[in-house]
Amino acid sequence: MIDFSVEPDFQAKLDWMNAFVRAECEVMDLLFPGQGIMYDMSHAKARAHLAPLRAQVKRQGLWACHLGPHLGGPGYGQVKLALMNEVLGRSSWAPTVFGTAAPDTGNSEILAMFGTEAQKARYLKPLLDGEICSCFSMTEPQGGSDPTHFTCAATRDGDDWLINGEKWFISNARYAAFHIVMAVTDQDAPPHQRMSMFLVDSGTPGIEILRNSGVIGEEEGAGSHAYIRYTDVRVPADAMLGAPGEGFKVAQARLGGGRIHHAMRTVGRCQRALEMMMERAVSRHTRGRRLGDHQFVQGLIADSVIELEQLRLLVLKTAWTIDAVEAGRLPHGGARNLIAMSKISMAKVMHDVIGRAQQMHGSLGLTTETWLAQFWAGVQALAFADGPTDAHRSQLARVLLKDVKPAESLFPSDHTLTRLAAARAKYPDA
Ligand SMILES: Cc1cc2nc3c(=O)[nH]c(=O)nc-3n(C[C@H](O)[C@H](O)[C@H](O)COP(=O)(O)OP(=O)(O)OC[C@H]3O[C@@H](n4cnc5c(N)ncnc54)[C@H](O)[C@@H]3O)c2cc1C
Repeated sequence: MIDFSVEPDFQAKLDWMNAFVRAECEVMDLLFPGQGIMYDMSHAKARAHLAPLRAQVKRQGLWACHLGPHLGGPGYGQVKLALMNEVLGRSSWAPTVFGTAAPDTGNSEILAMFGTEAQKARYLKPLLDGEICSCFSMTEPQGGSDPTHFTCAATRDGDDWLINGEKWFISNARYAAFHIVMAVTDQDAPPHQRMSMFLVDSGTPGIEILRNSGVIGEEEGAGSHAYIRYTDVRVPADAMLGAPGEGFKVAQARLGGGRIHHAMRTVGRCQRALEMMMERAVSRHTRGRRLGDHQFVQGLIADSVIELEQLRLLVLKTAWTIDAVEAGRLPHGGARNLIAMSKISMAKVMHDVIGRAQQMHGSLGLTTETWLAQFWAGVQALAFADGPTDAHRSQLARVLLKDVKPAESLFPSDHTLTRLAAARAKYPDA
């Protein structure tokens, strides 16, 4: 039985979140704008404003809900998290206010899954308490998203490991207290067993941020995505997260959650664009009628509502499937294709919905006087983060085609003429 209703208690939480995000988190977006500022622990004014808001969230029992009870967190599962993230997606600051900002969410997930008790005490606890932030150092300048091309390596030196190599576009490295670094530890192993994961304190000698690339609208050097060089970075043996050769497995464990959480927040951001679109449709007049009385404009609204609802249902089904896999009701890997579908869809839907909202606002939609232009410009970031859309499309199709059998004859097995002949042979009197 399919049931889309939300329990009254949880709906009350969502209602509280909705009012709070609009009244407080969206205000933080206005007062403290910028891509990396929410991770900057040294920004005294923003931190002072943030602290009482976080206290309110904690009192509501809504802090850091991304970790489920099976990982020692207070979470309620992915379906509820999807509904919560939908609300948080309205505001850039909201995930930080609620303790569910990427990439710290994914990093805390893998620490909870693969960390030793000592690693959890040292890194996971302050991360979940919102006292520090972290970065995930995987992509390489020459290897992009393909780990089989990675060259950053860790070699044994006595009891320690020495890390050497470069990483590219590492979000928030400039603010992070520690890096989770993926490095090749056995070049001769099968491609997906070559890498291991390391926890590296930011102050460790040999870590050099070559630059912080500016993305659309940011000055060069002002960005929060770092090009990093690791030169003889020495870490002890117990800095390894997971077992030797498990780097790819650890990375995969965090990327699924990251992708679906981005998709959930995209739904919320698009809903906000839709609200602006609807208001504009009944506020602006041209040729003696409201914008919303013109058929082309009606088409923009109808298409946006439909595409957004399709994405929302896909994301909710994906979340439900992840919960079912985690509860053992569906087999391991049962949500993989759905996560890919959500990841592929979100950038396209955001591109189209926010683009239409801009169109309806005319010249105003291009300015920095609303948030629309900034977010539309950031659509490509959504398409590349956690792996490029095309890689997911290609992977999805390959998985789907894996067990499909070719047609047994020249014509398709669903060839009407062939099937009709078979039907007539079976029922000659019909
Ligand atoms: C906002 C943002 C934040 C990021 N944060 C982090 C981070 O914190 N840590 C981190 O490690 N990385 C991070 N990244 C990097 C991200 O993982 C890479 O951008 C992404 O994996 C793609 O790699 P690339 O940019 O080198 O593009 P490339 O790999 O060079 O891809 C370029 C294009 O080639 C095509 N292509 C590539 N691979 C395939 C394939 N398999 N099949 C079909 N076509 C393909 C696609 O058209 C793709 O768009 C971030 C990226 C962004 C945009």
